[in-house]
Amino acid sequence: MTSPASARATEPPVDMLPVEDAVDRILSFCRQLDAETRSIEDAVGQVLAGDISAPFDIPPHDNTAMDGYAVQSASTEGATESTPVRLRVIGELAAGYLFDQAVGAGEAVRIMTGAPMPNGADTIVPFEETDEFGLRAPGQEHETIEDVGILKAAAVGNNIRRRGEDVQQGQLVLTAGTVLRGPEIAVLASLGVADVDVIRRPRVAILSTGDELLTPGDPPAPGKIYDSNSYGLSALVTQYGGVPRRFGIAQDTIPALTAKINEALADCDLVITSAGVSRGDFDVVKEVLAREGAIDFWTVRMKPGKPLAFGEFAAADGRRVPHIGLPGNPVSSLLAFELFGRLAIFQMMGRAPQPRPMLRAIADEDIVNTDWRRVYARATLQQDEDGHWHARLTGPQGSGVLTSMAIANGYAVCPENVERIHAGEECDVIMVDWDHPLD
Ligand code: AMP
Ligand code: MG
Repeated sequence: MTSPASARATEPPVDMLPVEDAVDRILSFCRQLDAETRSIEDAVGQVLAGDISAPFDIPPHDNTAMDGYAVQSASTEGATESTPVRLRVIGELAAGYLFDQAVGAGEAVRIMTGAPMPNGADTIVPFEETDEFGLRAPGQEHETIEDVGILKAAAVGNNIRRRGEDVQQGQLVLTAGTVLRGPEIAVLASLGVADVDVIRRPRVAILSTGDELLTPGDPPAPGKIYDSNSYGLSALVTQYGGVPRRFGIAQDTIPALTAKINEALADCDLVITSAGVSRGDFDVVKEVLAREGAIDFWTVRMKPGKPLAFGEFAAADGRRVPHIGLPGNPVSSLLAFELFGRLAIFQMMGRAPQPRPMLRAIADEDIVNTDWRRVYARATLQQDEDGHWHARLTGPQGSGVLTSMAIANGYAVCPENVERIHAGEECDVIMVDWDHPLD
């Protein structure tokens, strides 16, 4: 909007819900879902439903942390580069095998990283501290090594990873409520766990409304536009951990929308619609929500994204299914889903509904607030040579300018009670898609 700051109303409007209150109200309707058993390969991003304890020690045995020789420390006494001690090589041991004899005084076992410590040995001399280092090129045929020169005395315990030093049998390793990422999944695998109980992902119905909408792939037609919202929203549902279920486009009539919503309710845990929530003649979403369900609120003190319907429906089987009626304008729709839908999905999945982190950055351009709403300006965040973060707006900020979202990796916030953030002033920036490429 370009209206001058002086045109702004002097008092904040009372009929709009602050963003935080809207979040709280939405979350109060979103219950954590049941647990399911999943392969660890498919559970990334899901939340553990129960504690995981270790069935055995990790590592399960003392083993070598280096390639080298397993010996008795006493056998290496006095060894130096100029006065090497020669030890008899009695065998070789690769990771995955046990050595079937004991290492005695004056003896050594050639050993590879991860191999269990042979009985009798109490230290590892790495190849670098022997005179055989580099003798064998990779892939070269083994010639038997009969003895090896030790170039440095080795203390007891050198280069040994002790049994149980990572995890001990019976220890609580991961607690219920933990979000599974790569490292947690690796820990499960290291414990031999193949399947795990996790909170299931919500199935999220995505439904577009509007007589003007075409499906990508359809030929263009006069007066029509392509439905971008449902595709963007489905992608975000997947990104946030839910399972999108697309229900296509409903025409702007109460029966058409009611039928689609009933279809969605049969299968889904959350219903997301876009458009039809403002004050126009054909804005039927809130009408259907009010008739068939219960409406909770429908305007939020934010820009873009002010018209927002929220409520819940009762499914035929008695389940109560929350419904977020997003605005139709593409930027508003995606941004409101980022603020509200993401947290709703997190809560259903058993994740803490934590907002994204914020960064203080210098605004490179003015960010203007005309009507007491919190402004979320799409920006790219970049660091200058002095290490200061800068937020640069991604072009025109109209709620229909979808490309302004596409290259943003941050949303610069102008608070409700601030009329203008001037270029050069600091502001809060929500860090979205932090690993999104910047150039
Ligand atoms: P409405 O809330 O129905 O008044 O829609 C607001 C604006 O968003 C209108 O310009 C619509 O054409 C546009 N719009 C609605 N739904 C979509 C959609 N699924 N994809 C892209 N634009 C949409
Ligand atoms: Mg419409």
